[in-house]
Amino acid sequence: MVAGAMLDAAIAGVLGLLIGSFLNVVIYRFPKMLERQWSAECAEYSGQPVKEEEPFNLVVPRSRCRECGHQIRWYENIPVVSWLALRGKCSQCGTRISMRYPVVELVTAGFFALCGWRWGITLHAAAWAAFAALLICLFLIDMDTQILPDDLNYSLLWLGLIVSALGWTVPLESAVWGAALGYLVFWGIFQAFKLATGKEGMGYGDFKLLAALGAWLGAHYLLAIILLSSIVGAVIGILLIIVGKLANKDIPMPFGPYLAGAGLLSLALSPAAVPALLPFAFPFGVH
Ligand SMILES: [Zn+2]
Repeated sequence: MVAGAMLDAAIAGVLGLLIGSFLNVVIYRFPKMLERQWSAECAEYSGQPVKEEEPFNLVVPRSRCRECGHQIRWYENIPVVSWLALRGKCSQCGTRISMRYPVVELVTAGFFALCGWRWGITLHAAAWAAFAALLICLFLIDMDTQILPDDLNYSLLWLGLIVSALGWTVPLESAVWGAALGYLVFWGIFQAFKLATGKEGMGYGDFKLLAALGAWLGAHYLLAIILLSSIVGAVIGILLIIVGKLANKDIPMPFGPYLAGAGLLSLALSPAAVPALLPFAFPFGVH
């Protein structure tokens, strides 16, 4: 039994390393693809000629060093291993390769291994692994660009409703209410904040992300998600102060990474275990 679970975790973990490598591409390229798409649409509406550009998507062109343009060879692209073998530097020009790449691969592998351990090599485990993968992307894309792309938010939302309908998570009624109330709660706070201060404290992407998390975890979980996201926010804030990255206070810290972090934390702790850890966050009980 335990040996079987360990084998499942190992298989899922290796798959997670490969998916994590792909997530690095998504996190870096997806916002740039959206930007290209928007500027092409702007040009079209304003009647300007649309520039012909080289294809740029999640598959082409092949990855290059951002400094010298050196094309990354397959053996320089093995998750974690290549980064260690290259000692975190481009083989051509010696420019440092961010530690974030192997960290994203390892974190993804960790979540995949956890899903394999808990649910075996099943579609149920794959669904929760997809939940983790989408949240990792949303976390870092929002951190980098202050954007939570609709495509990712809505994929997470619909997947949450589907896994509920399949009977793998909360009852469908709770998932639907979780999604609707998740959106409305943040929209209400946003409007109240705007009335009181004239400022916009959140974006519509945040409402959609809370709706998606509500679909996965259920309406009874919304308060816990908000509570966990403030804990995640405090931890990230303290870490940023320690590494001295919070120098420019004018740059708004987006809320999306905290929400995504709360979702990941719930999965890490096990969605079923959180109510026992934070009973006061579940005043209406668990269903
Ligand atoms: Zn280089």
